[in-house]
Amino acid sequence: MDERRLRRQKLAIALQAAIEQHSLVLHFQPIYHLATGNIESVEALLRWTSPDYGVVPPLEIIAVAEQHGLAHRLNEWVLLSACAQLRRWQQAGHPLLKVNVNISPSIFMDGELASTVRRVLRLTQLEATSLVLEITEDTSLWDTADSTEILQQLRGLGIEIALDDFGTGYSSFSHLRQLPINKLKIDKSFVSDMATDVRATNLVQTIISLAQSLDMQIVAEGIEDKAQQTKLQQLGCEFGQGYFLARPMSELHMTEELLANVSAFAKRANTSVS
Ligand code: C2E
Ligand code: MG
Ligand code: MG
Repeated sequence: MDERRLRRQKLAIALQAAIEQHSLVLHFQPIYHLATGNIESVEALLRWTSPDYGVVPPLEIIAVAEQHGLAHRLNEWVLLSACAQLRRWQQAGHPLLKVNVNISPSIFMDGELASTVRRVLRLTQLEATSLVLEITEDTSLWDTADSTEILQQLRGLGIEIALDDFGTGYSSFSHLRQLPINKLKIDKSFVSDMATDVRATNLVQTIISLAQSLDMQIVAEGIEDKAQQTKLQQLGCEFGQGYFLARPMSELHMTEELLANVSAFAKRANTSVS
């Protein structure tokens, strides 16, 4: 325990320096419209290679930040960097592209998120409708009236809200009915189990019907092969993300991927017209 605590303390000092020195980076993983292959959005995923500690996994970065009072600054850095990068891509010819940013539960609940988001949108001149915030199903999220108010403030700005890793947490039907969430991301564990477990497939089908009945968009995470993509489309899933489609990639690679996607999309559109 002591060793772990010590590592986290040292990591926190290194993380603070990394935030200040802008040595964290974001990678981006596309979310595709499965029927057309068009890139709908890109999810920003935090990456940090520390000179002293090597590659630190994003979930450990978040845990260190939360334990050592750095969560705000980290969240602001991620939001600002992701929105600024999206704005550059939009200006370079991808005007409809969106960005998904993960928000940890503590940040979501602390009451400052809406003002931070407003400030970031103003600074980057990004339309609110281009931003999707991904939140996970955490018990604390659902247990207060505050969460509805926070979500309503954000939706009032025009931002979209996606429920990440759906199916692994604690949301109830009444929460889903009441909260102004407009996207569900099916957790990758269900997608990977579909090939071997008919109950996983049935669950995916049920989640898709649930989303449709609540007028929410549905995104499948963790698509790792063609069979999974085909099955998901047969079940009515519109959007997907996963290693089979594209891995998370650097800003530079994402720029190339976007260019390739636009020309492939134009080619597909021409073929379907002629
Ligand atoms: P997430 O938001 O559910 O992101 C999806 C994770 O699944 C990413 O891991 C991604 O690399 C991985 N993934 C994508 N496609 C596949 C696939 O086909 N198969 C498998 N097995 N995995 C796939 P990553 O980048 O290690 O991130 C892990 C988690 O860390 C994220 O899960 C998210 O909860 C958190 N995270 C990452 N960046 C941030 C951030 O900027 N802020 C916050 N608060 N959390 C973040
Ligand atoms: Mg996510
Ligand atoms: Mg997820």
